[in-house]
Amino acid sequence: MMKETKLIFEQSKTGRQAYSLPENDVEMYDLSAELPEHLSRKAAAELPEVSELQLMRHYTALANNNFGIETGFYPLGSCTMKYNPKVNEDIARLDGFANIHPLQNPETTQGALQLMYGLQEDLKQVTGMDEISLQPAAGAQGEWAGLLVFKAYHEQNGDGQTRKTILVPDSAHGTNPASAAVAGYDVVEIKSNENGTVGVEALKAALGPDTAGLMLTNPNTLGLFEVDIVEIAEIVHEAGGLLYYDGANANAILGKSTPGEMGFDVVHLNLHKSFSTPHGGGGPGSGPIGVKSFLSPFLPVPRIEKDGDHYLLNSDYPLSIGRVKGYFGNFGVNVRAYAYIRSMGAEGLQQVSEDAVLHANYLKARLTDYYDTPYKQHCKHEFVLSGLRQKKQGVRTLDIAKRLLDYGFYAPTVYFPLIVEECLMIEPTETESKEMLDEFADAMITIAKEVEEQPEVLHEAPISKAVRRLDEVTAARKPKVIYQR
Ligand SMILES: *Cc1c(COP(=O)(O)O)cnc(C)c1O
Repeated sequence: MMKETKLIFEQSKTGRQAYSLPENDVEMYDLSAELPEHLSRKAAAELPEVSELQLMRHYTALANNNFGIETGFYPLGSCTMKYNPKVNEDIARLDGFANIHPLQNPETTQGALQLMYGLQEDLKQVTGMDEISLQPAAGAQGEWAGLLVFKAYHEQNGDGQTRKTILVPDSAHGTNPASAAVAGYDVVEIKSNENGTVGVEALKAALGPDTAGLMLTNPNTLGLFEVDIVEIAEIVHEAGGLLYYDGANANAILGKSTPGEMGFDVVHLNLHKSFSTPHGGGGPGSGPIGVKSFLSPFLPVPRIEKDGDHYLLNSDYPLSIGRVKGYFGNFGVNVRAYAYIRSMGAEGLQQVSEDAVLHANYLKARLTDYYDTPYKQHCKHEFVLSGLRQKKQGVRTLDIAKRLLDYGFYAPTVYFPLIVEECLMIEPTETESKEMLDEFADAMITIAKEVEEQPEVLHEAPISKAVRRLDEVTAARKPKVIYQR
C-alpha cells in the first residue's frame, strides 16, 4: 500500500545537513560580489534542513508512490505506454549530444546535424513522405504546423479565402479539432459508420468547395483500420482538399504500410510514443511532420540539409510557414528515436507492429465474453470495450478503472473515444509478455464477476491506495497549487 509521506519541509530541523565534509580551508572567490545589489538575497532561502539519509528516504518514497511502465502494466489506449529501452537514455545523455548548444556554429555540431538528417531519412521511409521537419515539439504541435502547411498551399492556389473547413471524424483525438481551430479553420465533424470507420457517403456529403482537408488517424482511435482509405483519399483530392495523417497510432503499421501509400499529403509522428521516449509525465515530446514533395516549400525553417559530406541549416525558403519552435525541436527525443530505429532495424520495427496487433487481439478475445465489444472485427494495436452491461448493475466504467488500480494495473483510457458509451480503450503494446496480458485479463474477468456478486466494492475502489477518489471537479475548478501548512 502507498504511504503518505510528509513534505520534506515538514521534516526540517535547524542545523541538519545532507552531507558531511570537512570545513573548507581554501580561500574561494566570492562570486556574489559580482551580482548587482538588487538581485542579491536579503534573507536566507527557506530550504529544508535534513540529513542525507532523510533526503534519500524522502525521494525514494516519492519515487515508490509513482506508477510508471517500470512498475507495472500501463494499457492507456492511444498513448502507447510501452517499455523504452534504457540504452536509448544512455545514448541521449552522451556528452556530445547532451552538452552542445543550439547556438553553436554548425561547423562544431556536424555530428548532431548528421543524426537529425539521418532521422529525417529514416522517417521518410516510415511515412512514405518526401520531406520531413523535426521541429514540432509534440503531436498536437505537428498537427497545427501541418495545417499551416495546408493553409499556405491553398493560399498559394488562391483558395485561401474559400477553403475554410477541416473535416474531422467523430472518433478523432481531441487535439485534431483543437489544432484545426487554432490554425484558424472551422471544424466539421463526420459521423463514423456502424463499423466504426469513416463512411464514404458521409464524407461525400460533407465535402465541398469550402473544404481545406480531412484529418484522419489510421488505424483510428477505436483501433480499427480505415479500410476505405484509398477511396477516401481519392474523393478528398478530387474535391480539392488535402489529407492529414495523425500518426499517433503508427505503432500498428510500421513496416506494413505507410500514410504516403494510403494517399496522405501531410503526416505527423509522435516520436515519444512510437519511437521510444518515456512520456506521460509532461516531459518533452517530438512531433515531426512529413509532406509530399509538392508541399515541401512550406515546411518550417531552418531545414537540415546535406551538401556532400557536410550538414547545414537552410532557411532560404520564401514560402515557408516559418519557425514553429525555438531552435530545431526537442533534440534529445530525436536522439532516442534515432537510436531506437537504428537498433531495431526495418525487421525489428515490423515485428513491433505485428506484436502490438497480436497482443491487442489476444486481450480482446479473452475479454469479449465478459464485456460488451462494440466492434467485432479484428483490431490493430488497441481496442475498445463498453461497460454498458456492467452499468445495468449500477457499476460505471469509472468504477472498473478505479478497481484495476487495486489489482496493480494502470487503468485504460476511459470515456474516449466519445462515440462508445462507457468506453474502455485498451492498448497493451508490443513490449508485454503473454503472462502479463493474462494477469490483466484475469483481473478484468474478476472485476466483471465482482460486478455481479459485490458491486459495492467497486463503488469504494480503489481501497488499497493512499489517495482514494478525488473530487475531480473541485480539483480542476479550484486547484490548490501552493502548499499551505
Ligand atoms: C497522443 C495523441 C495525439 C496528440 O499528441 P501529443 O504528442 O500528445 O501532442 C493526437 N492524436 C492521437 C490519436 C493521439 O493518441
